[in-house]
Amino acid sequence: MPKTAFKADLSRAPEQAKIKTHNRWHPDIPMVEMFRPGDEFRVECFDWTGGQITNNDSANDVRDVDLTRVHYLSGPFGVEGAEPGDILVVDLLDVGALPESPWGFTGIFARENGGGFLVDHFPKARKAIWDFHGIYCTSRHVPNVRWAGIIHPGLIGTLPSRELLERCNKREAELIATDPNRVPPLAVPPYADTALMGQMTDKKAQDAAKEAWRTVPPREHGGNCDIKNLSRGSRVYFPVYVKGAGLSMGDIHWSQGDGEITFCGAIEMAGFLDIGIDLIKDGVNKYGLVNPIFQPSPIEPHFSEYLVFEGISVDEKSGKQFYLDAHVAYRRACLNAIEYLKKFGYSGEQAYVLLGTAPVEGRISGIVDIPNACCTLAIPTEIFDFDIRPNASGPTRSVTAGVDVVATS
Ligand code: ZN
Repeated sequence: MPKTAFKADLSRAPEQAKIKTHNRWHPDIPMVEMFRPGDEFRVECFDWTGGQITNNDSANDVRDVDLTRVHYLSGPFGVEGAEPGDILVVDLLDVGALPESPWGFTGIFARENGGGFLVDHFPKARKAIWDFHGIYCTSRHVPNVRWAGIIHPGLIGTLPSRELLERCNKREAELIATDPNRVPPLAVPPYADTALMGQMTDKKAQDAAKEAWRTVPPREHGGNCDIKNLSRGSRVYFPVYVKGAGLSMGDIHWSQGDGEITFCGAIEMAGFLDIGIDLIKDGVNKYGLVNPIFQPSPIEPHFSEYLVFEGISVDEKSGKQFYLDAHVAYRRACLNAIEYLKKFGYSGEQAYVLLGTAPVEGRISGIVDIPNACCTLAIPTEIFDFDIRPNASGPTRSVTAGVDVVATS
């Protein structure tokens, strides 16, 4: 086991830890520790909310999560010799749960608190808890399913340069200005009050927090990409923007469906990552890199049978035709799958959570056949303990009653 470079003590709030997490991106956040190309080290991470969600049967905590405090990131870790324009090669040698915390959670976020992909259909807070059994997971809140985890960091990236910081702040502010009062908002601007700036302190930290990126979107440095196939065993190539690169990570997922559609849509957990690092000097120029690229793991779980739902770019409520709009088409594919799963006894919320957490494959299947984009959502049929395929006698209600976890007060 490689040496632990960052410890996450789950018995106390991350704000009280000796080595501080950071929840903003900024070029001047100091490195936690320096490593050399070829080094390997272990990084422990808090869950993305820093422990705001508990293992119980109420969704009050999901409803009340303070989203300005997320994500709690471990790092940044520096690499000797790394300079802007290099590629940082990161091997995700292993990713897993912490032994003292063998469970995870999924939230449907309320419209007033970020919402999710299907917020118009599911505007209220809900929660599901998942238990880990070796490589498998089950949930008392989403019955009759079990599958092997495809464990991955939802968020991993390098520190941005000042130029990139300012460029992204400008473009995101311009987007917000087109509809500044929208709920949920179009993007999240810098917000200093709850900023954690890692080992940066005092006046310097306060000033930097005013311009530091929030961690919600993926950007050119990686960040919150939420790619399920960035799983343990994969190799990621990050552009380096600052001297030392500054690699940070967190938001570990036990499993996730393509799109992470409920927003807190994966099985979220605290956990560890074993990291191996290397450098490709001047790699950004050599390979024309703009965003990170990666090679998936050789050991992802494999399923042999899927049921695939199609969706086209026609709005479900108004019937309005959209032009090659993959966002609308993927939403329709998800809604079609949810309606189908409800026939077996799942509630809409349970089906929604299932699509966010199970290893479903989302695809843009057609993007040129005017006017309809065609998106597909493939559900592995083997995750269910009953047969979900269509047959002549119709669906039988096979799902044992689960607990519908609502906000109560
Ligand atoms: Zn996450």
